Amino acid sequence: MKSEVIDQFVESHGEQYAAISDTIWRYAELGYQERDSSRIHIDNLKVSGFSVREGVAGIPTAFIAEAGSGGPVIGILGEFDALSGLSQSSMAVSCMPSVEIANGNGHGCGHHLLGVSAHLAAVTVKNLLESYGLPGTVRFYGCPAEEGGWGKSFMAREGVFDDLDAALTWHPWTVNAIWNKHTLAVKQAYFRFSGISAHAGYSPHLGRSALDAVELMNVGSNYLREHIIPSARVHYAVTNAGGVAPNVVQPKAEVLYMIRAPRNSDVNEVFERVCNVARGAALMTSCELEIKVHSACSNLVFNDVLNRTMQTNLERFSGTAYREEELAFAASMHRTVRAEELEVAGRDLLSVWKDPKPLFDGVVPLSGERGQIHGSTDVGDVSWITPTAQCFTACFAYGTSAHSWQWVAQGKSSIAHKGMLIAAKTIAGTAMDLMVNPNLLKEARRELERQRGGKPYVCPIPANVEPPLAALVA
Ligand SMILES: [Zn+2]
Repeated sequence: MKSEVIDQFVESHGEQYAAISDTIWRYAELGYQERDSSRIHIDNLKVSGFSVREGVAGIPTAFIAEAGSGGPVIGILGEFDALSGLSQSSMAVSCMPSVEIANGNGHGCGHHLLGVSAHLAAVTVKNLLESYGLPGTVRFYGCPAEEGGWGKSFMAREGVFDDLDAALTWHPWTVNAIWNKHTLAVKQAYFRFSGISAHAGYSPHLGRSALDAVELMNVGSNYLREHIIPSARVHYAVTNAGGVAPNVVQPKAEVLYMIRAPRNSDVNEVFERVCNVARGAALMTSCELEIKVHSACSNLVFNDVLNRTMQTNLERFSGTAYREEELAFAASMHRTVRAEELEVAGRDLLSVWKDPKPLFDGVVPLSGERGQIHGSTDVGDVSWITPTAQCFTACFAYGTSAHSWQWVAQGKSSIAHKGMLIAAKTIAGTAMDLMVNPNLLKEARRELERQRGGKPYVCPIPANVEPPLAALVA
């Protein structure tokens, strides 16, 4: 497939899709609440000739759009959820809430760009299959609530990725690179304690404090940290402190735990020990305990066969020239970054980028070294089901961090739009390489089978856990 064909198709749609991305930036809807964001995607996909199945896996904002016929079947994954409390004025170089965003949220992880670029890649692949009269099916997966809701994992439990030959996606970042680092598997669960209310001054001996139980559980978990594998992470948020009255013994209290570790089996082991700590806290306070799993997602396994194909495409389509004003804006953003943030950002790049500038304009070589990111993504579940690859492209000034006001501020910039188009071209180019080269898909599948050790994918979310559709605490 000639690069110019993909390049021209994507560029000719660039303005239209940048406008959709900007609109979703303004909607800034939290996980599982992305009604307007998924609607704009669905409407545009229908106009582009895709058939769309809505409400997938019992999630109103999850959808699958499909075009083409026969095999291979390539899935392209898109997201569109925002983060709470991150409202930020576009293009401002200091932290100030946006007057455009009414709900106080912000696209601090660039998922407005992520979904739209993946969508444009799917439209591009459909157009190419039709233009060249090629067999093959392209699917765009509208995946809600990546931020802590793990929408893809719930979708995976329903089997919607099972018949894919490969899945492709990307993430907005500050560099152009292939994602070849491991992520951590996650399990989240609510620990709900029930005690007995009482007058805290007159008759505290008659009360049993659920808030005491939460506090003791947290203390116990903090002691537990030293005795679990170092790569595991245990986070918590008190989601119900039992009210605001100190003169009442709190009869109900709740804490949400998030446990991360390299593999699902590690997560389950740490989770069981945290459950024991909770049981101990309940025993100490004579409270009842209910444990309710909220969600989970698997660690990511990457696929070298697909990564190499995607790297070739990333190198084909990177190389954007930036205008003076773009470089100046990136430089002003770069100045807001603390030295230690720059050091973290540069750790992986020092060997390839000797003189870091405010904007990354190269491509990080594909390394055989496997690092570990101590974060998580629900792409992990898809990667255990079908060979999966994803790239990063430079959408934000070098050194600025995900989940920050700086990323929200840069989310509608022409730099972000350029990064979004590089990703669309890279994904479309990779998908077309796979469409016309069945041997690549066979090799990629063999690699996945080796990694799975002959075992089938098992979704880490228990069958009786419903998607947590109420607004997420992001
Ligand atoms: Zn993200």
